[in-house]
Amino acid sequence: MDGQTITALRTHRANLRRPFPADLAQALIGARITGLSRRAKYGLIHTDRDRTMVFHLGMSGRWRIDPADIGKHDHLVIETGNGHVLALNDARRFGSVDLVDSARLEEWPAFAALGPEPLGPALTAAHLAQAFAGRSAAVKLLLLDQRIVAGLGNIYVCEALNRARIDPARAGGKVSRAALSRLVPAVRTVLEESIAAGGSTLRDYARPDGELGYFAKDWRVYGREGEACPCGGTVRRFVQGGRSTFWCERCQK
Ligand SMILES: [Zn+2]
Repeated sequence: MDGQTITALRTHRANLRRPFPADLAQALIGARITGLSRRAKYGLIHTDRDRTMVFHLGMSGRWRIDPADIGKHDHLVIETGNGHVLALNDARRFGSVDLVDSARLEEWPAFAALGPEPLGPALTAAHLAQAFAGRSAAVKLLLLDQRIVAGLGNIYVCEALNRARIDPARAGGKVSRAALSRLVPAVRTVLEESIAAGGSTLRDYARPDGELGYFAKDWRVYGREGEACPCGGTVRRFVQGGRSTFWCERCQK
């Protein structure tokens, strides 16, 4: 993708969750792709046109790479100069596509309120200590709050809390500074291992669950209720904020 020119761009309906930008094709046909990145649960396609295409896969969206044929849920189709076809497939249409001025990405409303990226330098134990101070909400729910850390999904949070040996139900304000100092590298390790397992191309965004960069791998606790934690304890499951939490009561205090 990097360095490729967009030679064609077609939309097959007017909208996903909201309308496609009216000037999407005009803005991007002929543009060169200068890079791919992500911010929270959004994917970004950077171009040499000073506009960035920002997409969200919603509940059911995925990119189909070089599909054999274009189906009725392939709502946006992009062709590149090296002959590849990328189809944005979204049966339920909770996804979105926007064009944002590249120089003002951080001011875009969906990005302006976000906390630091988990792999960036701004995520520190001090940041978490400040964000959690006085909070009685469970640390797991606070970690899922995009205003505190951007883009952490349920699986990553369960795994990071296990590695950092933190009880997911503990009040955020009651998590010790030492535990927060374990948590930051634990978050990074979980993300980096997940990214390493899957590469770093558009296929990263191909998952239908909206958890960008999430790849099936051998999780320590996620999806392992009743199995053994690496510490020898037993993995348990309970529901927090409507989502499953997997944890080990033996090592997570
Ligand atoms: Zn354990």
